[in-house]
Amino acid sequence: MNVILLGPPGAGKGTQAVRIAEKYQIPHISTGDIFRKNIKEQTPIGVVAKSYIDKGQLVPDEVVIEIVRQRLAEKDCEKGYLLDGFPRTTFQAEALAGFTTVDTVLNLDIDLNLLMKRLTGRRVCSACGESFHVSFIGDAKECSKCGGALIQRADDNEETVNNRLVAYTNQTAPLIDYYTKQGTLKNVQADGKIDEVFAAITRVLG
Ligand code: AMP
Repeated sequence: MNVILLGPPGAGKGTQAVRIAEKYQIPHISTGDIFRKNIKEQTPIGVVAKSYIDKGQLVPDEVVIEIVRQRLAEKDCEKGYLLDGFPRTTFQAEALAGFTTVDTVLNLDIDLNLLMKRLTGRRVCSACGESFHVSFIGDAKECSKCGGALIQRADDNEETVNNRLVAYTNQTAPLIDYYTKQGTLKNVQADGKIDEVFAAITRVLG
């Protein structure tokens, strides 16, 4: 089962990805998580990626494509994978088609006007990756799932979120057409509750 999660920043890709990976027992590959790990460890990739991520811009295609190409060649991807946040450009999608076959593209469909509030109020567990929103958790500092420290992502500020939404509209949204033409795209309404969105995803994936 080779699956792509497509959707704007804040649509809930990370939240749903954790649940999909657990239910279908496939590795969750988030290019954003890979970059954040590299930034933390101050690797050469991390240094390059940070200069783009801090501005809300996409990391250059050639950097991210090579990371994904190598990751998909690992043994645990033999039975399938879930790509979260890749591809984000048509160029990346075409490169991906050169080294794997995608079965299903889940497009998390949501009104873009909801996303600024979702992202600027988001808190993420630094240990397990679960996402929360201040409107539910207030100023809680610990993850209710695993006890890890909750953090605010450096790129979840208003200015950077604006740039990320522009990058999505100009560079990533064309993939909806691209995968519709390939016949692999399935739309999932993503403005409901987490469990409802997940139920809709499982109806698509079976
Ligand atoms: P995410 O965690 O998916 O929201 O990604 C955080 C940031 O990492 C994005 O705003 C981009 O700057 C960068 N990034 C993640 N995935 C990609 C990708 N496939 N192509 C280019 N940049 C990416």
